[in-house]
Amino acid sequence: MELGGGGERKRVVVIGGGVAGSLLAKSLQFHCDFTLIDQKEYFEIPWASLRAMVEPSFAERSVINHRDYLTNGQILTSGAVNITDTEVLTGEGRLIPYDYLVIATGHADSVPISKTGRLKEFQQDNLKIRSAHSVLIVGGGPTGVELAGEIATDFPEKKITLVHTGSRLLEFIGEKAANKTLNWFKSRNVEVILEQSVRLDTISDSPGSKIYQTSEGERFEADCHFLCIGKGVGSAWLRETVLKNSLDINGRLMVDENLRIIGRKNVFAVGDITNIREIKQGYLAQKQALVAAKNLKLLLAGGRESKMATYQAHSVLALVSLGRKQGLAQFPYTTCIGRLPGLIKSKDLFVGKTRKTLGLEDA
Ligand SMILES: Cc1cc2nc3c(=O)[nH]c(=O)nc-3n(C[C@H](O)[C@H](O)[C@H](O)COP(=O)(O)OP(=O)(O)OC[C@H]3O[C@@H](n4cnc5c(N)ncnc54)[C@H](O)[C@@H]3O)c2cc1C
Repeated sequence: MELGGGGERKRVVVIGGGVAGSLLAKSLQFHCDFTLIDQKEYFEIPWASLRAMVEPSFAERSVINHRDYLTNGQILTSGAVNITDTEVLTGEGRLIPYDYLVIATGHADSVPISKTGRLKEFQQDNLKIRSAHSVLIVGGGPTGVELAGEIATDFPEKKITLVHTGSRLLEFIGEKAANKTLNWFKSRNVEVILEQSVRLDTISDSPGSKIYQTSEGERFEADCHFLCIGKGVGSAWLRETVLKNSLDINGRLMVDENLRIIGRKNVFAVGDITNIREIKQGYLAQKQALVAAKNLKLLLAGGRESKMATYQAHSVLALVSLGRKQGLAQFPYTTCIGRLPGLIKSKDLFVGKTRKTLGLEDA
């Protein structure tokens, strides 16, 4: 255990145990009096969840209890609801004091609290897919596209319809990438309906074939549906806190080059919640976590602020899986689709790599 600059053991609190928060927690646990606050007991690799819907056992490796990699710190399973200059308030009414705070609440999700509950959810989703002849996917961002890719690959006999409000798929990356993805779907008989939204009030959860309506009045039939609409930034809880003025108009926390919230000496932010002008991706959230960890270790050891590491924004690089063997890659100057990007991401979906980053054996 290292001591703080003044000799006392410093308290570091990380809020959010997602891609960035889990790595930060793992890196800091032996350097301070550490607490991780997360809504759930586990870290889930977000981009593996669509595979887990077609193959539930896949989630046994991609859903990881925080305690498996965080052996030294305190874990509080709760939502953070408020912060002051010195404390975090949890949903259960507990006040957690801090010397340094890191906010990593990229996206809030309503998922089960326990790993067992989450694995059960994947089994239910899988049953829903298997027992359907036709599936409707609502949303053409990365989640909807990857889910459609998984179902089209593992269950080519099922009729898949994907409805998206935007004028093209995957709006977070380039137009060429979107067109290639659309053609990939066409070649696999996935029907893509653009510039329309499914009227959610027309959807019922009762089993059996249902009629769905779009905003344009188009009607079609499907046995079940999955909502794959963006989760939004997990910063709503900060709107009434001391950090309310640190949020930009998109609800992102404004950080400096050292990843500290502008104007704050002891509060950092990492991951998708930051206003850094770059594509929001997990591998970048991890890079940010490592910069923040380095800076915190320096400060905890009494180092000079001028020695802190800086974070540089990265150019666009994204990989979208299309089933088990194919994928789409967006590089800064080009895009490609098919086996090659599939080789990089689609087989294991970086699950083994991510586990290794957290110091875990590949189960
Ligand atoms: C389908 C899909 C595919 C993707 N594929 C890739 C890919 O191939 N490569 C890649 O690099 N990125 C990919 N991404 C993007 C990547 O998942 C995100 O960029 C990454 O998850 C951001 O990490 P984060 O730590 O900022 O936030 P998150 O991973 O969203 O973690 C946020 C954490 O905060 C917790 N939380 C939220 N609010 C609170 C609160 N008030 N109190 C306590 N806890 C809270 C949540 O429970 C969660 O654990 C993909 C995303 C999706 C949806």
